[in-house]
Amino acid sequence: MSRIFDEDLKFSCGTRAVHAGQRPDPTTGAIMTPIFQTSTYAQEALGRNKGYEYARGKNPTREALERNIASLEGGTHGFAFASGMGTIDSIMKLFKSGDRILCADNMYGGTPRLFDRILANLGLGFTYVDTRDPQRVADAMTPDVKAVIVETPTNPLMWITDLAAVGAIAKRHGALFIVDNTFATPVFQRPLEHGADIVFHSTTKYLNGHSDMVGGCAVVNDDDLAARLQFILNAAGAVPGPFDAWLVLRGTKTLHLRMAAHDANGRRIAGWLAQRLGDERVYYPGLASHPHHALAARQMSGFGGMISIELGSRAAAETVINRLHLFTLAESLGGVESLVCHPATMTHASVPPERRARLGISDGLVRLSVGVEDAEDLLNDIEHAFQGVA
Ligand SMILES: *Cc1c(COP(=O)(O)O)cnc(C)c1O
Repeated sequence: MSRIFDEDLKFSCGTRAVHAGQRPDPTTGAIMTPIFQTSTYAQEALGRNKGYEYARGKNPTREALERNIASLEGGTHGFAFASGMGTIDSIMKLFKSGDRILCADNMYGGTPRLFDRILANLGLGFTYVDTRDPQRVADAMTPDVKAVIVETPTNPLMWITDLAAVGAIAKRHGALFIVDNTFATPVFQRPLEHGADIVFHSTTKYLNGHSDMVGGCAVVNDDDLAARLQFILNAAGAVPGPFDAWLVLRGTKTLHLRMAAHDANGRRIAGWLAQRLGDERVYYPGLASHPHHALAARQMSGFGGMISIELGSRAAAETVINRLHLFTLAESLGGVESLVCHPATMTHASVPPERRARLGISDGLVRLSVGVEDAEDLLNDIEHAFQGVA
């Protein structure tokens, strides 16, 4: 855990991205935070040290990253973890056997896998709800519900949840409100400002932005919650190494620039796809035809580069995927390079087929992570790919 530098709060997003949480190294003046590649720290005498004892608990490179992301999210304390899943797993250790977690339908595929196949065995209960309708959340609040966890926009269907409305319901019932902000990033959406208690990320995606590490982070703005999470972080130990922390910190310096480029490309490509396929087959919250466009525009300041399209059949999906060249077939998202993915057989293969069908993750669904290449080149690539289908 690291607490933000309060003086960073006078700056807005882009300046925080570049500077927040970092100061030149006091021993050398190094402008960039060094990679403190050490497991332990010399102690001056019994019970006397420089604030660092063992690197599972604290590492200066990790601290700079934690302060940087916490300040971007508008929180006070940040926590870095070894992966997005390691982050969710550590957050879930706040709860105990008999507690119930109300969870959004259509989360990242690994999240229900962790919940249903591991944490349910330890006595946590999970209820899945379509959180696009806050009334359904209110109706599902039983006395044992201790947390509500949502993702917005969702992966891969780009469903939008009203953060303020669901946050108010969670608060009324004394439940923690937890938000996966991986898709929107703090550049476009800051859930803590809408009532969230914990916001978390897979930093593997946009925060790192260069597809060269796996990591996660969480941010809170409550001192007690921060102390409990720090205890879990140190006790359970799902922490990142200093080099991976440094790579994310390098990434967040350009987060505001990259997100603007992803957003500009995303809007253009979604527009082209909507003309080609029809509005109802393109899932992108920036399109006026998206069922929750107005809500998205209210709680987000941009829509980013994630677009899903319904091509009607696995054969059509396969043809388009095979004819793309600039979009590489791969899992993951949020890097500078464009990727294409087939959720039913890739990211969401662990979701049982009947649940996939109920959610609408069909065999014809294709997800694009639009990178920051030149839009004309990406559009030419997509146009060529679509020449293969009727
Ligand atoms: C990738 C992802 C995760 C899991 O993070 P890892 O870093 O892969 O463990 C969680 N949520 C969302 C929205 C993701 O895209």
